[in-house]
Amino acid sequence: MNETVDLQILSTLDQTLTVEPTQNLLYSLLLLVAALACGYIAAVAWKRVQIGPTASSIVLFMLASAWWGLTYSIHWSGFFHSSGLFWLDATYLGVVVVPTTYFAFALHYTGNGKWLTRRIIAILAIEPVLTLIMLWTDKYHGWFFADNQAAGRSAILDGGPWFWLNVTYSYLLILIAFVILVRFAHSSGSLHGKQVNIILAGSLVPWVSSVISVLNISPVPDLDLTPFAFTLTGIAFAYALFRLNLLSIVPVARDALVEIMTDGFFVVDLENNVVDINLAAQELLGLSKLSIGRNAEELFRNTPELVELYKNVREGQFEFFTEYYGQRHLDMRVVSLYDDKNKFTGRLYIFRDISKQKTVELEIQKANEQLQQQISEIKTLQAELQRQAVRDPLTELYNRRYLEETLEKELSRADREGTTLCILMLDIDHFKAFNDTYGHRAGDAVLRELGKLLLQNTREGGDIACRYGGEEFVIVFTNTSLQHAEQRAEEFRKAFETMLVSVGEDQLSATVSIGVAAFPVHGSTGEEVLHAADTALYRAKEAGRNRTVVLDHPQPRVT
Ligand code: GH3
Ligand code: MG
Ligand code: MG
Repeated sequence: MNETVDLQILSTLDQTLTVEPTQNLLYSLLLLVAALACGYIAAVAWKRVQIGPTASSIVLFMLASAWWGLTYSIHWSGFFHSSGLFWLDATYLGVVVVPTTYFAFALHYTGNGKWLTRRIIAILAIEPVLTLIMLWTDKYHGWFFADNQAAGRSAILDGGPWFWLNVTYSYLLILIAFVILVRFAHSSGSLHGKQVNIILAGSLVPWVSSVISVLNISPVPDLDLTPFAFTLTGIAFAYALFRLNLLSIVPVARDALVEIMTDGFFVVDLENNVVDINLAAQELLGLSKLSIGRNAEELFRNTPELVELYKNVREGQFEFFTEYYGQRHLDMRVVSLYDDKNKFTGRLYIFRDISKQKTVELEIQKANEQLQQQISEIKTLQAELQRQAVRDPLTELYNRRYLEETLEKELSRADREGTTLCILMLDIDHFKAFNDTYGHRAGDAVLRELGKLLLQNTREGGDIACRYGGEEFVIVFTNTSLQHAEQRAEEFRKAFETMLVSVGEDQLSATVSIGVAAFPVHGSTGEEVLHAADTALYRAKEAGRNRTVVLDHPQPRVT
């Protein structure tokens, strides 16, 4: 070993020597390749800097590694020797930056980048800067090398107190970063899958390299393998991040999504303080980013509907109308948030403006109501039409058409059941004269009153009372004996006779003659029975009017 040292000192003293003991062009070439690889990765990562600080930390990590490899390569090339150990000392600019940037990468990658405040960065910079000063001013105090540099190895693997302090510090930083990555791999599980495995594998390389150095089992004595180790680490990181699945983009894309989405959302913690709010929520609720950190209850005091939610709802979806934010219908969904230990940590509120939808809904509802109303009007009209089709407007009695339609049915039923069906035919006496004396309107009034009398004294559904012609009426009694029919006819006649009809100042009265006939005795068809009743009526008129004549009652009764 001492021989190498002597030769090395010689070589640095006299560059014209033909044999350069520290010169190893193979080592130099390998280191140059490693440096170029680092430079390339730095360039690739640089293009992704906009992705975020994870890529930035890779850029710095790789630049430092590239510097380390390049200067170490120059050292081994044996060229450009101004002083024997100048390039070896120069490597330290990279050596001190590598652990720090590796540490920064671990923090950013695992989502803990927020720890790296300006203050922490400044504190992290202290040790590397001091180390460089110590190294470059070593000849004045010897704290760094403590004369060990004179040993002249082509790797700084031994030294004084500051050297060991730096080694300890660097390994501690790398160890912390490694632990952070391992914990992250453990907690993120399959979510990051292959990517995190490759990053872990990459992180193991420097440890392996350092074990090889410490155990002194390196196949290439004197060559510090660390720059190669970090090159491999860098390649692993870059591959994992940029080739595998670009996972580092995901949080950024997520942020972008949250900001551009039209649904508003905000998150409150256990104390109801707003911890996050997106752009849509700010616009919908008239707030700003400054709302973060403020108490939600106080923030929404103008919207009592919202405040109620904080007090009562942990989970669910509902709609509410608010006047405060410009008369809006909002649809709000509340989701409870739990941490990975299933502990309730806060709530997420997602809401959207459904005013337009509501307006449309209301319009549809209104149109529906109108439609329902129209349908019911149509139904009423239809019923009225049906009624009008079978009723006489003046007397409200059935009309002749209805009688003709139903009489045949009633007759065949009577025939089937073997019952008697009676027909009364009524005609007002001297009605022409009545009209002439008291006027047509008075005549109408009498007709109306007679109609009322007949309606009130017949069974709806059983008897059929109808206006047969001008002042002629027909009543059909189903399942009624001729005798009973005659009796009913007499009741009508008498009731009408005594009835006084008010027309203006006058109290008028009239009489009616009634003919009665029955099925099946006086006819087998409606026409025949009607005709028979008409004959009876004619006889009643003949006999002097205001009387009831039952056909085949040769002696009409007068009361
Ligand atoms: P009779 O005792 O023989 O029946 O004598 P009458 O005058 O009633 O004779 P007829 O039955 O021939 O006369 C029918 C009259 O009834 C003719 C018409 O002026 C009157 N009349 C018919 N329909 C209406 C009506 O709707 N309103 C009024 N006011 N009068 C009517
Ligand atoms: Mg008549
Ligand atoms: Mg008449």
